[in-house]
Amino acid sequence: MPSDFQAPAKNQTLSDILFEEKLITQEQYNDIKVKSAAQNLSEETLVSGIKTITEAQLAEAKAKMLNIPYIALEETSFSPQALEYISRAVAERFLLIPFMYDDKTKILSVAMSNPVDLDAISFVQQKTGLTIKTFAATPSEVTRAIDTQYRQEIVGEVGQAVKETEEFSKTKTVDSKDIAQIIKEAPVAKIVSTILEYAVNSRASDVHIEPQEDRVRVRYRIDGILYDRLSLPKSVQEALISRIKILSDMKIDEHRTPQDGRFNFRVDNNEVDLRISVLPTVFGEKIVMRLLRKSGGIPSLGELGLTGTSLKNLETAMLRPHGIIIVVGPTGSGKTTTLYSVLAKLNTTRVNIMTLEDPVEYQIAGINQVQINPAVGLTFADGLRSFLRQDPNIILVGEIRDNETTELAIQAALTGHLVFSTLHTSNAAGALPRLVDLGAERFLLASTMTAVLGQRIVRKICDNCKTSYTPLPQIVDEIKNVLGSLYPAEGVTKLYKGNGCDQCGSSGYLGRIGIFECLPVTDKITKLVLSNPDSSSIEREAIAEGMITMKQDGYLKVLQGITTVEEVLRVAQE
Ligand SMILES: [Zn+2]
Repeated sequence: MPSDFQAPAKNQTLSDILFEEKLITQEQYNDIKVKSAAQNLSEETLVSGIKTITEAQLAEAKAKMLNIPYIALEETSFSPQALEYISRAVAERFLLIPFMYDDKTKILSVAMSNPVDLDAISFVQQKTGLTIKTFAATPSEVTRAIDTQYRQEIVGEVGQAVKETEEFSKTKTVDSKDIAQIIKEAPVAKIVSTILEYAVNSRASDVHIEPQEDRVRVRYRIDGILYDRLSLPKSVQEALISRIKILSDMKIDEHRTPQDGRFNFRVDNNEVDLRISVLPTVFGEKIVMRLLRKSGGIPSLGELGLTGTSLKNLETAMLRPHGIIIVVGPTGSGKTTTLYSVLAKLNTTRVNIMTLEDPVEYQIAGINQVQINPAVGLTFADGLRSFLRQDPNIILVGEIRDNETTELAIQAALTGHLVFSTLHTSNAAGALPRLVDLGAERFLLASTMTAVLGQRIVRKICDNCKTSYTPLPQIVDEIKNVLGSLYPAEGVTKLYKGNGCDQCGSSGYLGRIGIFECLPVTDKITKLVLSNPDSSSIEREAIAEGMITMKQDGYLKVLQGITTVEEVLRVAQE
C-alpha cells in the first residue's frame, strides 16, 4: 500500500525523474531533451523506446511526475466491497480497477492506467457517489487484475455476504450475545464456506486469515506459494473468527491463548479435513487452516502408474505386519509420493503410523508425522530410537543414509514393525548390496527385507495433440529386446507422440507418471543375499522369478501410448 501523497512535484519532466532515479544515462537524457525539442515528440514516446526501462518503472516515474501515488497491483489485495462499486464493463472501458474502500470517509481507491483521465474519474464519481482517490498502475497489471479479480467468484460472493453482515452489525451495538447470534446467521456462514470452497477448488494447502490494523487479509497457499486473495473489512473479523472457532470446537471467549481444533468440510465429492490453529496477534486472532484432503489429494498407487505384477508384489509386502520395504531411485523420481500413497492406503484407526521426514511434504490426517531437525539433535537415527518407545505399528524413515539408521531400521523390523524407507540406488536390486555397505548384517537383512521398489518418473504424452506414427525398425528391435516374452505377439507397427499444442506448451507432453519395478525378497533372493550379493546377480534372479523391470514397465507404457521411447531412455540413464 502506498503512503500518502508525496510532496508536490518540482515541475520535473519524465526524463528528469528517470535520470534522477538513475534509470537512464546522461547521454540518453541529453538525447531525449534534444529530440523532444527538435522533433516535437513527447518525452513519453521517446522514453518508451528505451528497452531497459520496464513498464513498471515508466508508470512509477509518470506517477511521480503527476504527483499521484503509484501502486503495484501484483502485490495488492482487493477488497470485495470496493470491487462491488465498479462493474467489469466500466473497469475494462477505462482500464481501471478499484481495490480499497474506506467506509468512514467514503473514499474509493482506484488504480488507473491513465490516472489523469478526467472523464473516467468523473464518470466513476457520478456512478458511485463516492470520493475517488486515484493511483497510477501499469496498463498490463490493470488488465491482469481486471481479469483475475472479476473472474473470481470468491470476491463477489463474499462481498454480498460481507454487506449483509455489516448491515446487521450497523443496526445495533454488538455485544457478546449478538455475536453468538451473528455467527449462526447465513452471511457469516456463507463467508466461511466460500473461503473454504475456493481453497478446495484452487488446490490450496493452507488458508491464512490475518487480522491487520484496518482489514482482515485472507491468503491461500497454492503449490507452495502464498497468494493474497481477499481483503475483508475489519467489521466482520470477530464474527468470522468466532464462526471458525465454533466449527472447530474451540472456546470463542478465549482470545489470549493459542488454540487448536479441527473440522470436516465437504465440497462436491471432496471431503476435506481441516486442522485449525488460532494464534493471538496484536490486531486480533490469526487463523491458519490446513486442508487435508481425504479423497483426491494423495494419488492411489494405480494412479501413480504402479500396476500388474509390481503392484501385486508391493501389496503382498505391505500387508505383512513387519519387515522392511525400501523405495529406490534418484532425487526427483517420486519416491516420497509413492510412500505417501502407501501410507494413505495403510492408514486406518487400527494402526499407529509414525513418520520421520525431511521435510514433511504432505500431511496425512491420522498419521503422526515428525520433521527431523538435526540442529536440536533430532536426526533420523535419534527420531527412530524415540519412535520405538511410542508403540508404532508402521514407521516411515525418510531416508537411510548411515550405519546407525540402517541398524535401527533392521531392529525395528525384527521387533515386529513394518518399516518403509528410501535409498539412493539406481535400481531395486542395488538396494540390498547398498544396505550391506551401510553395515547391515547379512542374515538380519535377509530375514527382514520384504520388498524393494525401484522407480522413475516419465512425462505423459499430451492427450490433446497425441498422434500415432510408424517407428523405425531399430526402435522396434530395441523394444522387442527389452520386453522379451512381454513383447506382443502381433508385433509393433505404431507408436505415439505429441505434436505439441497450446495445452502442453508445444512440448507434446502433459502430466507425469511413474515407471516401476518391484523386487520381492523371495527365498532364492534371501539365499543370494546371504552369500555374496552383487546387484546384477540379484537382478538376474529377480527377473527369472518374474520381476518386470522399470525399463520393461516403461516400454509397456510406450506401447499403450502413455509415454515415449525417448522419455523412458532419458530417465533410464539416471
Ligand atoms: Zn499437446
